[in-house]
Amino acid sequence: MTTRFFKPGSISDAMDAYLKSDGTTHYFAGGTDLMVKLGPPGNTGHGFISLERLSGLNRVQERPEDKIFIGAMTGLSEVAGSGLIAEHFPALAAAAGSVGSPSIRNMGTIGGNVCNASPSADTAPPLMVYGASAVVAGRDGEKTIPMDAFFTGPSTTCLKPGDILTGFMLPKNPAIRAGFVKLGKRKAMECSIVSLGLSLEMDGAGKCGTVRIALGAVAPTPVRIVRAEKILEGRPLEAEFIHRAAAAVAGDIHPIDDLRATAGYRRKMAGRMVRETLLQMCRQDHQ
Ligand SMILES: Cc1cc2nc3c(=O)[nH]c(=O)nc-3n(C[C@H](O)[C@H](O)[C@H](O)COP(=O)(O)OP(=O)(O)OC[C@H]3O[C@@H](n4cnc5c(N)ncnc54)[C@H](O)[C@@H]3O)c2cc1C
Repeated sequence: MTTRFFKPGSISDAMDAYLKSDGTTHYFAGGTDLMVKLGPPGNTGHGFISLERLSGLNRVQERPEDKIFIGAMTGLSEVAGSGLIAEHFPALAAAAGSVGSPSIRNMGTIGGNVCNASPSADTAPPLMVYGASAVVAGRDGEKTIPMDAFFTGPSTTCLKPGDILTGFMLPKNPAIRAGFVKLGKRKAMECSIVSLGLSLEMDGAGKCGTVRIALGAVAPTPVRIVRAEKILEGRPLEAEFIHRAAAAVAGDIHPIDDLRATAGYRRKMAGRMVRETLLQMCRQDHQ
């Protein structure tokens, strides 16, 4: 069995190679998901197109109009340790820092985490609640896809054959408070049983403005729970509305039973995680 491993120096060469290949060729970022699925590159019969040499994909950069670009090839360790990300998107830094172990975070990339499209991908909920968009290079040029529309099912995305995710564009918003909470059976090397990203912006009159609630591992894809968001928006951050929003979360998700947890446990804990996160924000407001 042979393995082909190609390291192109440009996005167009990478796309050409992919589009000329058969269905057994894959883009290769850090390889932490691919190697589990396909076995080590030396012995699979598959072809790999490394994205390592493509310029501009492994950086975190300030962009015009108060935006920050995070390249798809940025390692999870860099995302977790970036001062810029910690300042503007702390829930994303926390999510990246919760993945696997130091060695997995050193190899794995944020783009790979998202393109692998696991329902439990830990960086997905915070990207969704910060209003991130995926920046994608395709045959017809560059396109921008809101993270809410990126996932289409377990292990599937809206990327077309040959498309390369180049990174994420995130709007800075100093008025947003956000949190990331991960429930697992242990603290390291553990895929999420439930993960939560939640962001909240108060309006000037003491009421909730924009609220975003996104959960991982409770549905075929990471999901926003819009009904719960709408219960809070325009209302004061008070126990009555917090409890109603948490109940809406538990009611609107579609978890499954698997090796890690039952659907019932996931449903109960998702509601509780939302409630506790909002109550904590409420307490901060009254300190
Ligand atoms: C022991 C272990 C523990 C783990 N723990 C966690 C955890 O706690 N939380 C969690 O979320 N994940 C976890 N993971 C999963 C994994 O580490 C992450 O999903 C990782 O971020 C994948 O990134 P990568 O660069 O290694 O992707 P790769 O394995 O290289 O690629 C993954 C997929 O995405 C595609 N791809 C990658 N980059 C691009 C791109 N730029 N454009 C288009 N397609 C692309 C590849 O073709 C492939 O299909 C764990 C994995 C292991 C092995």
